[in-house]
Amino acid sequence: MGNFKLGKMTLRSLFGKPATVQYPAEQVPAMSYEHMRGHVECDMDTCILCGMCQRACPVGAIAVDRKGGTWSIDQYRCIQCASCTRECPKSCLSMGASCAPATTDLAVTTLHKPVEEKPATGEGASGAGAEKPARKKVQLTPEQEARVAAARARKAAKEATRADV
Ligand code: SF4
Ligand code: SF4
Repeated sequence: MGNFKLGKMTLRSLFGKPATVQYPAEQVPAMSYEHMRGHVECDMDTCILCGMCQRACPVGAIAVDRKGGTWSIDQYRCIQCASCTRECPKSCLSMGASCAPATTDLAVTTLHKPVEEKPATGEGASGAGAEKPARKKVQLTPEQEARVAAARARKAAKEATRADV
């Protein structure tokens, strides 16, 4: 019985259609299923360029440049583990069902996010090096002047007592 099965399989392989195709002359569309992990997709409108996905990726397929406003992925390095999609705090990463197409050019895909310009530190700016605006002098009433003078006198007396000790 076993020999009969083996013979049948051998004959089928010898005279049947091959399971493979002569790529790239002949191409068959790649199969994809609803929950298949084909490639990583990033929604740049939601992405905050925090870099969590880059740190979570076990093969270093993702690169985040916060200053330059770019998010890049090397689809041909990615092993579709989906770790990045789980770590993203903004849930802007997802796994698309289709696989990256076959290629001889291992290009990296880079997505851009507009970076907000920081306000220039010049006249009127409140940067670290900018001069503080002069404090406006408040006009005190005679009663307030007397309270301030009394407080100053008390402070001076306290300091004098401390100096004597
Ligand atoms: S973890 Fe999410 S929000 Fe952060 S850089 Fe990656 S894709 Fe953007
Ligand atoms: S799916 Fe896995 S391997 Fe691919 S980019 Fe995300 S963390 Fe890296």
